Amino acid sequence: LQKEFIQAQVVLKRLQSEGFEAYFVGGSVRDALLGRPIHDIDIATSAYPEEVKHVFKKTFDLGIEHGTVLVLSGKQQYEVTTFRTESKYTDYRRPDKVKFVSDLTEDLKRRDFTVNAFAMTVDGEIIDVFDALSDLENKILRAVGKAEERFNEDALRIMRGMRFAADLDFDIEDETFEAMKSHAKLLPKISIERIFVELEKLMLSPNWRKGLRTLNQSEAFKYLPGFEELDLNDFSEDYQFKSSEQAWALLYLKFHTFDLKAWKVSNDFNKKTKLIVKAYYEKAWTLENIYSYGLEIAQLADDLKFGQGLELDLSIPQNIYDLLQIHSKSEILVKGADLIKEGHPPGPSLGQLLNKIELNIVNNKLKNQKEEILAYVKTISC
Ligand code: ATP
Ligand code: MG
Repeated sequence: LQKEFIQAQVVLKRLQSEGFEAYFVGGSVRDALLGRPIHDIDIATSAYPEEVKHVFKKTFDLGIEHGTVLVLSGKQQYEVTTFRTESKYTDYRRPDKVKFVSDLTEDLKRRDFTVNAFAMTVDGEIIDVFDALSDLENKILRAVGKAEERFNEDALRIMRGMRFAADLDFDIEDETFEAMKSHAKLLPKISIERIFVELEKLMLSPNWRKGLRTLNQSEAFKYLPGFEELDLNDFSEDYQFKSSEQAWALLYLKFHTFDLKAWKVSNDFNKKTKLIVKAYYEKAWTLENIYSYGLEIAQLADDLKFGQGLELDLSIPQNIYDLLQIHSKSEILVKGADLIKEGHPPGPSLGQLLNKIELNIVNNKLKNQKEEILAYVKTISC
């Protein structure tokens, strides 16, 4: 048993000592079996949310109506969810109401894919209701139950499926894949923010090309804003994105119709992505453009060019960045007030003068040193 589970054992034991059933469930069990790093540990229990809150000192409501309570234990936090089924889905998104049940198997049946539907006892014994161990061994992603029904209930599962197939490097089982294809038209019913999260995880996985290929084959891309038919030959192999903005910059570069606004990303995300795109088109790195983009953006853009085998500018951003005397205006050792003291009138011309000083310092034509800057100002003002 991995150390993360050993730490979490107290939570299960505590629930059991109160007479409830409790198991480890979800992605953490899957990842443990695959020998992958374990992120968050989810727990399923027969206790009702109010009972969970009663059993533990430190808890936090995470959607009581869905049965989830966050339990803080040690320095860790665990999502503890009451066994439940999902009754009717009338809008293809969220269950109308959840029904708590007394039985673990019922809870596992509502889960999306077999490899996400393991449970594990406190001692590390695996409960495998859907023969998921053989899917795990054969690297197959298979919907729990009837694939068509499951995607009809919740179309986000289609995106999740493609994300998991890429992330785990699994193949999607035929019936599951056919159902993805036939139900992709329900994707517009899902909020774009939730689709974004899945696509982001897909793009940040090492196998994102495989994920995009599946997106293409299933024709799900037709229902995503700005996606056109993909030509994966445009994308180099083995490229690992370093940030979500960088991945989105590549999509933006590839799809002429790509509209970030339609994805409802934050202004900050939008800005950063567009800066990477702009920096990507720079013919060469210079003191001026590295100063204006900042090192991070320049490196992400440089990376994209390199990753795609375009001609590589030999002057790498870091080397140029190291030559910069300043990284923002505030680092200039002469301020507007100093110039006014020297007799320069306030007003727009002062700003222009400061810009000139900044440019010269960036280009290393002027030292960022008070006397030198003031002497320089004298030479241009007379
Ligand atoms: P990750 O490694 O990305 O966290 P995960 O498998 O833990 O993957 P989560 O989104 O954290 O995925 O969800 C935890 C578990 O809840 C899943 O393993 C799955 O059993 C179940 N689940 C989550 N979303 C859905 C859904 N839309 N439909 C059915 N089951 C779901
Ligand atoms: Mg998880």
